[in-house]
Amino acid sequence: MQPNTLENPKEFWKAVLGEIELQLSPNSVVFKSLLGRAGIEKITDNIIYLSCEDEFVKKNIETKHRSLLTEVVSNLARKEMEIQVSVKKQNTKQVFKNTEYTAPLFQQDKDTNQLIKEKQMRSNLSPKFTFENYVMGKNNNLAYAIATAVAEKPGELYNPVFIYSGVGLGKTHLLQAIGNQILRNKPGTKVIYTTGETFTNELIEAIQSGKGKGKFATYEFRNKFRKADVFLIDDIQFVIGKESTQEEFFHTFNALYMDQKQIVITSDRPPRDFTNLEERITSRFASGIIADIQPPDMEMRVAILRTLRDRDKSQIPNEVIDYISEKISTNVRELEGAYIQVLTYAKAQGLPLTVETAASSLGQSVREKLLKNVNMNEVLKAVCVYYSVKASDIKGERRHKELVVPRQIAMYLMKEMTRTPFMSIGEFLGGRDHTTIMHGVEKISEDIKKQEKTKQDIVNIKQLIYAN
Ligand code: ADP
Ligand code: MG
Repeated sequence: MQPNTLENPKEFWKAVLGEIELQLSPNSVVFKSLLGRAGIEKITDNIIYLSCEDEFVKKNIETKHRSLLTEVVSNLARKEMEIQVSVKKQNTKQVFKNTEYTAPLFQQDKDTNQLIKEKQMRSNLSPKFTFENYVMGKNNNLAYAIATAVAEKPGELYNPVFIYSGVGLGKTHLLQAIGNQILRNKPGTKVIYTTGETFTNELIEAIQSGKGKGKFATYEFRNKFRKADVFLIDDIQFVIGKESTQEEFFHTFNALYMDQKQIVITSDRPPRDFTNLEERITSRFASGIIADIQPPDMEMRVAILRTLRDRDKSQIPNEVIDYISEKISTNVRELEGAYIQVLTYAKAQGLPLTVETAASSLGQSVREKLLKNVNMNEVLKAVCVYYSVKASDIKGERRHKELVVPRQIAMYLMKEMTRTPFMSIGEFLGGRDHTTIMHGVEKISEDIKKQEKTKQDIVNIKQLIYAN
């Protein structure tokens, strides 16, 4: 649209309504209904004067829809514009009216929900991620507390917030919950959620399509992010280390930070682990608050599956939940995957939801992994890496605690993963008797039941083995 359309308020208003229709879904009645009862009076240098029929419409536009409207208007005018609304009962002649308006205003509550949904969509947020369905436990309580606080008072308490964890532990969920909650509290807030990957791709696109525009090439790209009230960026590790994206991110970060806009960052590792991150960026991250999320313990895994059961109204009994939680200890994503797998399997096979059914459903995937043909050498290597011990010491005679545990873990994993007879494992491990191996395997099998740490160690070592 040409800026000179500003000289024709009626045309300009049409364009505004058109743009809003494009941005919101077609069944959005609220915005159109309110705007249908408003019209444009005049445009001055940087103010759009609207008039409407009554106080109610005026108040609604001013309180609930001002920021969206301002944004659309400013974008179309290609400069910062302000909105002023007045009530004008007569003299509607000058007022351009959108005659398509039909929705009655008593739909307000429904409409507000609709508007929130639309804002969530525009912010790239999925409404399914909320604080309500995020289970809190020892492993994530700091991250959770910070996230909820930030959602209540964005920009005021902690800034920036940096949350890190391994995969599938709930970073994206938490980040999206922040955005969703802020929009629920105040639908007018401009929330931007993006991922490090999208940020990078969009920047590259902006640079390519803006060739020849010199330093204005990335103008729109920058503007988009810098208008955010709340900037949520997921998986920042994709941005770090690539010189141009890192630089661009740093500028965006600074601009928002200076304006005291809320910034929340997630990553697969803490800031200190970014080896090629410049000091000025690391120190900025560290100037706010940093929290990690650890893998869930047994209690937490059970709680998560019970929440899923409530959500799905699935009739899965507690003992099956316990069984799945015991088997899958890596992360929440895999836990959810296993839960769905068991439900689907039982349904497809017409079996009752019992521990046996769960075992044969999950056993299958464990067996699939075993088909990878793990050998004793691979187990030994992983155990040595994990505990920082030498293979010769595992095979040797010394009986320090630092060696006994890794040695028995090696026995256990060799038995479980390679199905080698006890005698052969004994031979492999420096000529030990088969009863020694049996004892070691039993000892670890017992420890796994009692000690969370042993279990987690086993999981981690298996991951090391499968990763090779
Ligand atoms: P990440 O971003 O850390 O890789 P996600 O946020 O994508 O992890 O989480 C993976 C899945 O596990 C999602 O479906 C998410 O809803 C679920 N999830 C993770 N943590 C929790 C939790 N504490 N409570 C409930 N669901 C969770
Ligand atoms: Mg994620």
